[in-house]
Amino acid sequence: MKLILLGPPGAGKGTQAQRLRDRYGIVQISTGDMLRAEVAAGTPVGKEAKAVMEAGQLVSDDILIRMLGARIEQPDCAKGFILDGFPRTVPQAEALDALFAAKGMSLDAVVELKVDDAALVDRIAGRFTCAKCGTGYHDTFKMPAKSGVCDSCGGAEFSRRADDNRETVGARLEAYHKQTAPILPHYASQGNLKQVDGMADIDEVTKQLFALLG
Ligand code: AMP
Repeated sequence: MKLILLGPPGAGKGTQAQRLRDRYGIVQISTGDMLRAEVAAGTPVGKEAKAVMEAGQLVSDDILIRMLGARIEQPDCAKGFILDGFPRTVPQAEALDALFAAKGMSLDAVVELKVDDAALVDRIAGRFTCAKCGTGYHDTFKMPAKSGVCDSCGGAEFSRRADDNRETVGARLEAYHKQTAPILPHYASQGNLKQVDGMADIDEVTKQLFALLG
């Protein structure tokens, strides 16, 4: 199964992608995670991306298209994948079409998580993840069952993203509306686009996704 999850920052793409990964046995490809790994490793791509990400803007299409192209060549992608955070611009969507056509692959679904902008700032500002396994949590909506201990792996260290702050969220939302939302008609015209109410609670959104995807 090959899926794209679309939606603004804070819509729940990462959380739902993890659940889809577990249910369908396919890999989650988060271009944001890949870029954060490049930044942490201090690679040339990471050095170029760091300031752009901290400003809440989009990293260049060239870098992203190259990165994604190489990632889906990896053997673990053979059974399928969920794209979380890619494509984010029309040129990226067109490059993905070309990549799929060249490989004779097709998309099973593109799902948009629909969320009101007003809800996103609180969602983003409160989130954190387990440093060991990446499970996502939130100060208000989803604390670990036992304070300070990850529900999934028992890890005791958590981290917050440098760009998950109220100042940067505005720029990230603007980038979404200006640069990413225009790809919705691209997929709608291909007859691939489905929508899920991302305002529902986390488990309800998962239920809707599973029902949609079978
Ligand atoms: P995310 O983790 O998906 O919210 O991505 C974090 C940041 O990484 C974004 O705000 C962008 O700066 C950058 N980024 C991730 N994916 C892309 C992409 N497909 N195109 C451009 N920039 C991206």
